[in-house]
Amino acid sequence: MKPSIIKQKNRSKIAMYIINSSCVSRQEIANSLGFSMPTVFQNVNELIDSGLVYEKGEYGSTGGRKAKILSIKEGVKYTMGVEITPHHIRMVLLDLSRKLLDFEQKRFVYENNSSYYLELSKIIDIFIKKNGLIDNRLQDLIGIGIALPGIIDQSRQILLKSHALGVENIPLWQFSYNLKHKVVFGNDANFAAHTEVIDKNKNTIYLSLNDTVGGAIYQNGDIYLGDTFKSGEIGHMILVPGGKKCYCGKHGCFDAYCSAKVLHKNKEDMSLHSFFKNLENNDFQSIQEWDTYLDYLAIIVSNLRMAFDCDIILGGHVGGYMEDYFHKFSNKIQKYNNFDIDVSYIKLGKYKQECAAIGAARIIAENFIENLI
Ligand SMILES: [Zn+2]
Repeated sequence: MKPSIIKQKNRSKIAMYIINSSCVSRQEIANSLGFSMPTVFQNVNELIDSGLVYEKGEYGSTGGRKAKILSIKEGVKYTMGVEITPHHIRMVLLDLSRKLLDFEQKRFVYENNSSYYLELSKIIDIFIKKNGLIDNRLQDLIGIGIALPGIIDQSRQILLKSHALGVENIPLWQFSYNLKHKVVFGNDANFAAHTEVIDKNKNTIYLSLNDTVGGAIYQNGDIYLGDTFKSGEIGHMILVPGGKKCYCGKHGCFDAYCSAKVLHKNKEDMSLHSFFKNLENNDFQSIQEWDTYLDYLAIIVSNLRMAFDCDIILGGHVGGYMEDYFHKFSNKIQKYNNFDIDVSYIKLGKYKQECAAIGAARIIAENFIENLI
């Protein structure tokens, strides 16, 4: 490998380490990444000169000279994430320090026609302008990540199939043809997993419990896509043979029993938030529905644990409400899984609605850092 490429890779690793740690010293970087102190000093100085990193202050003295606290400068470069769902668009703006600067959700019903795609670019442009990224500041927006609910062929840049949007074989440029920035596409659950899986080197299953159910499998530091890009379609594993009809056309899919829609019943006047409010107020019907929901979820989670023997994150909109009910859920899981003595392999997601869009924005930031010159 050329020395200039090695240098670039080292600098990117150090920048990523500072982003992930939020506050860190040069010594910690050297220890964790196995670099010599001169290498760390040189790269950090270059990152400071480029305006991305700054010295935020000093750590308390341990006897010698006080170590400087390094951090990513807020508000220097921005990335945008967009999630497209059948009925909504969700948008986030982050800066390189991963600070969430804006989140907006709009009702915007998907239709596969030119007026939808034109309107999509207008909505994104308005969001960018609203955040002051106009004129000479437009270049501070590095790019836009777009999360789609479907199977994506990255090599041919095609949305192969989306049951949720009811389309197949859509060229990805349709979603971005009027946008001025670099755009990267990805599957919604994979992007959401990117946000929620903190240690990417730990094998993890991410379960996205939204109005549709998705999943992503982290294996050996990367998302396992499968032979035909269909891995992680956990929502369409059969849970009840011949059971309730799923939007994919089959009967008895996990999605038909454990999507967020099952709880808020897809009624405009009944949000998931109101469902959990009713549950909190001991509403009898909500208690029964939640109990049934958790029973089905426990079957899938214990099956996934049997198949993969790794951590499982319960994410998405429902995952964001699970904390108060974790004990009850643990008891249900233990009924199905007598191989594990506890349920510490089950983790809860930290985000509700904005997760996939955040993952999309983070991917843009990471691509930028990887290519720092
Ligand atoms: Zn299905």
